[in-house]
Amino acid sequence: MTVPSLTLNDGNSIPQLGFGVFQVPPNETAATVTSALEAGYRHIDTAQMYGNEKGVGEAIAGSGIARDELFVTTKLNNPHHRPDDVRRSFDESLTSLGLDHVDLFLIHWPLPTQYDGDFVSTWQAVAELTGDGRAKSVGVSNFEPDHLERIITETGVLPAVNQIEVHPLFGNEEARAAGAERGVLTEAWSPIGQGTVLDNAVIGEIAARLGKTPAQVTLRWHIERGDIIFPKSMHPERMKENFEIFDFTLSPDDVAAISALDKGAEGRIGPDPKVFDRV
Ligand code: NAD
Repeated sequence: MTVPSLTLNDGNSIPQLGFGVFQVPPNETAATVTSALEAGYRHIDTAQMYGNEKGVGEAIAGSGIARDELFVTTKLNNPHHRPDDVRRSFDESLTSLGLDHVDLFLIHWPLPTQYDGDFVSTWQAVAELTGDGRAKSVGVSNFEPDHLERIITETGVLPAVNQIEVHPLFGNEEARAAGAERGVLTEAWSPIGQGTVLDNAVIGEIAARLGKTPAQVTLRWHIERGDIIFPKSMHPERMKENFEIFDFTLSPDDVAAISALDKGAEGRIGPDPKVFDRV
């Protein structure tokens, strides 16, 4: 299967499908990511907060895959928002990953009620990391439309992506639209709602009709909408299943039927970025 690539607003390209390692235990990460690379994934999404960058790096080092065939993302942890801590923790991430650059570095959470409400100096420090090529692209995660507007207005630097919670039960349409208006691609986290959407009757009917699984139909829905996804699994057979979503399409009616499952804020799994404040 060939995974399509999307072009970011800085000209770099990103594979639209990757593999996420949230909640993969550190001591199982190298083996898990090795299985994902064997299944064909070439885009890995980790974070300082996940505590498993080292395992991601070990899998990459052991894979024999050329660095330029891989796309690696990591994210700034919440205690590291001050500019000096951005630079220090970024260096530590590269060391943990055993890499001389990452393809994408994100602010994990805006934390608008922390750091005196200043996520702009954090963004400025993150943006400067592209200067010497150690971060090829930079972006944000969990930014609401007003957060996005503020960093762009105050620094003039566009984030390449905004990684936000999106799945059929939580379409997060305002945040997606705020990105789309500015050329910021949406990365949809928890694309299958951590498994909660898989027993949905509408998705089940479409899956049965197309001879696909509910996970494949849900992941394909994101692809049709143009978002970037990186489902997580620790089971090689599910990694393979989640990778096999490029040999079919969904009709506009099926895309609309799944989009109509959106329950608004009630459908959220994760915290609300406007008030999330854990540092
Ligand atoms: P997900 O929607 O990818 O669901 C993962 C869970 O679904 C797995 O633990 C497994 O139990 C189940 N699953 C996976 N494939 C399946 C299949 N084919 N059949 C049945 N069950 C299956 O949830 P996620 O891990 O929360 O999100 C994906 C990635 O998004 C993360 O690993 C991480 O990289 C990223 N993420 C980012 C943030 C953020 O704040 N930026 C937050 C959460 C997740």
